[in-house]
Amino acid sequence: MSELNLFTNIPPVCLLYFFYGLAFLFLGVSIAVKDISGSELKLAGSLYLLAGFGFAHGAHEWLELYMLLQGQYISPREIFFIKLITVFVVVLSFFFLLQFGLALIRSIDNNRMKWLKGIPAILFLFWIIYLWNHGFSMDIQFFKKADILARNTFGLVGGLVTAYGLVTYSHEVKNLSLSVSKNLFYAGITFVFYSIFAGMVPSHSMLPYLPIPVEVLRGISAVLIACFIIKALNIFDIETRKKIEQQLKRLAQSEKLASLGQLATGIAHEINNPLTNVSLNMQILKNRLKNNITDKDILQKLEAVERNVDRASTIAKELLQFSRQRESEFIPLDINNVITSTLTLLRYKLNDVTIHQKLSDVPAAMGDPGKLQQVFINILNNSVEAMPDGGNIFISTSHSNGQIKVEISDTGVGISEENLSKVFDPFFTTKEVGAGTGLGLSICYGIINQHSGTTEISSTVGKGTTVTVKLPSIEKNEKDSHSR
Ligand code: ADP
Ligand code: MG
Repeated sequence: MSELNLFTNIPPVCLLYFFYGLAFLFLGVSIAVKDISGSELKLAGSLYLLAGFGFAHGAHEWLELYMLLQGQYISPREIFFIKLITVFVVVLSFFFLLQFGLALIRSIDNNRMKWLKGIPAILFLFWIIYLWNHGFSMDIQFFKKADILARNTFGLVGGLVTAYGLVTYSHEVKNLSLSVSKNLFYAGITFVFYSIFAGMVPSHSMLPYLPIPVEVLRGISAVLIACFIIKALNIFDIETRKKIEQQLKRLAQSEKLASLGQLATGIAHEINNPLTNVSLNMQILKNRLKNNITDKDILQKLEAVERNVDRASTIAKELLQFSRQRESEFIPLDINNVITSTLTLLRYKLNDVTIHQKLSDVPAAMGDPGKLQQVFINILNNSVEAMPDGGNIFISTSHSNGQIKVEISDTGVGISEENLSKVFDPFFTTKEVGAGTGLGLSICYGIINQHSGTTEISSTVGKGTTVTVKLPSIEKNEKDSHSR
């Protein structure tokens, strides 16, 4: 009846280790099977490290479980080896956790905090020196010491860094999904507790004032972490859904623009010729009347006609620019330079606003510098016009997955939800007659489209507007053409 014995003799603590390990292994598997290859989310780049932590830590718990069940039946030699592996696996798991937390924080900060990379090495050095000073030996007592020290260093720091990363990241994804954001936040908070239970409290002991074995608390935290993170993995499905929606919108937009473009070219040509004619004749009339006219009013009226004709031809010219499929001159360029030169060009208009630039090193892109400058001029003009009493404009560049991203935000009046879907439409304007043609953003859209990029806009009334332009980098273009 040995089978029956096996089950009736299992102490409850074994079940605890079983579920503790299972929770983390399940976390690892859930991440590993998730298809995140095309994701642009910051979390995507570091998630494999969390899976590594899940697998390694789950394995660690199951090794402990094996020792509990079989410890008294195996030889000291085997015990020695299993303990050695257990220590190795626990150190490895916390190392993964630390790396995950650091990678997440760095990606949230657009890889600016390069010094964070050094933390694991410093902790590792500290770990080795400490152990060396306390008598480096190959025995079980020493393994215990190494385990405790690994928990106090990698475990504690890794857990806290991960908690900080997850909580910070949860704020970033609020707009994408509130429920994912909440789950990431809860996972972060649970990691704080976990790092205390696993990093500060030694195994086989209890917390002061809390007469529960610390293993139980670790186990509960592990199950909660796995639940929250697995729920938060939904973010990748939400991202894909949003991408598809946007693509459909973009398709509809480009079709609309294409047909409007044809119409616009026709109209612009038809209008431009008579307007030039009117302009010329106005000049002649004015010159003739100038000398032998006494009624000033007539001259003023003529000038008013001339102004209006000028305005009409400006619109016609913009229309042509919008619709013209002029061959672009694509050359490798640094987007940061295009932005800087645009700012120089617009300096006279930017007196009342404060420009905040955060230009990171980005790879080169293929583009037409003149046209791209036009794009940034139009976007910045809109921002300035949205802030009649001055304000702030934030310009940042970054790059990930072969995409260069330019974000231009302002603290202007914002755009209502109803208008947001129309701003790329030609002639859509909320500005007074004479102030806006409504072509600025549709020209931007067309130019960026020609560069195989995307233009997006988001806005909150009363708070401000953000226009995001994404362009493929040269590397990305080359990679795509190789794989074709
Ligand atoms: P125009 O500037 O001639 O009106 P655009 O195509 O440049 O045409 O912009 C269309 C409309 O989008 C504007 O009239 C305005 O209502 C809105 N808009 C664009 N950018 C901004 C911005 N940064 N802040 C507020 N509203 C904006
Ligand atoms: Mg405009």
